[in-house]
Amino acid sequence: MKKEKLIIIGSGPAGLTAAIYAARAEMSPLIFEGNEPGGQLMGTTEIENFPGVPDGTMGPGLMNRMREQAKKFGGRTEFKRIEKVDFSDPSTLKLWSGDEEFPAETVIVATGASARWLNLGKGEEKFWGKGYTACATCDGAFFRDKIVGVVGGGDSACEEASFLTRFASKVYLIHRRDELRASKAMQKRVFDNDKIEILWDKTVTDLRGEEKLESVELTDTQSGKASELKLDGLFMAIGHNPNTEIFEGQLDRHENKYLKVENFVKSNVPSVFIAGDCADWRYRQAVTAAGFGCMAALEAERFLAEKE
Ligand code: NAP
Repeated sequence: MKKEKLIIIGSGPAGLTAAIYAARAEMSPLIFEGNEPGGQLMGTTEIENFPGVPDGTMGPGLMNRMREQAKKFGGRTEFKRIEKVDFSDPSTLKLWSGDEEFPAETVIVATGASARWLNLGKGEEKFWGKGYTACATCDGAFFRDKIVGVVGGGDSACEEASFLTRFASKVYLIHRRDELRASKAMQKRVFDNDKIEILWDKTVTDLRGEEKLESVELTDTQSGKASELKLDGLFMAIGHNPNTEIFEGQLDRHENKYLKVENFVKSNVPSVFIAGDCADWRYRQAVTAAGFGCMAALEAERFLAEKE
């Protein structure tokens, strides 16, 4: 069984940037693309804040070009998902996709995170990207002078609601309880902002519209009463889940299940490096993930050079 020099798990901006750097360093990385090749950006529309792209670019297009760039220098992609790992021997890391085993000298974990959705079981896919989104930083500017809602009561929801008031004429913060989970400072920002109205004790129970989202059904968590709220956009901010289950017992994780890193990208296993949203619950941007991917590839390269 051939032992790979470097296996990269994940094909979002972190994984593919790591792949570009590693491929250019002639490490011939093998990239496992997983179930969602391209990662979270495949679900976005236009990206206007990626440096060097002043006219904006579509998320899927950007990811396809990153993949092309990695392949151009010798990166190899597998449309497979790694389901199990054994990192107990740092000199031979073992990974499995189904019954197939892939041994490696180094691994970069770039498995990302997934936004939590409402799981209404209806309408969510239809409106995804058509008013229903999970990233205010990415999509906020498309809602200039429009009415939007933000679901959640944590720091993300408050931050996104505040950010959206730069564009939207009105922002509803829809929260399932009667108090916010967010820090006091973040709460104050929301309370002090005239454009934000908090709808307490409410959950979104239906998404409605013809071509794009036009309104939502709210259900009061106390009375059970339903009502309709007209809006142009609904931003989910009920948290993200890091995709780190397969590393349980193999890599150190925080209590919130994000992977622990030292010196930006180092894990507790010397031959395993970590990049992107699977370790970052704070910034979560394509450009920051790409930056961590670059760092992880440079560290993997250094690790192998020192070993040789
Ligand atoms: P979070 O703190 O876990 O908050 C999630 C919010 O969504 C909670 O208010 C929760 O309600 C609500 N929620 C969860 N599931 C829901 C559901 N199915 N339906 C309706 N509401 C639901 O997540 P986060 O705000 O993304 O923050 C994650 C971490 O990043 C936190 O540690 C946060 O402090 C940090 N963060 C920091 C900053 C900053 O400092 N600038 C910015 C963003 C995030 P309940 O309150 O009722 O549980």
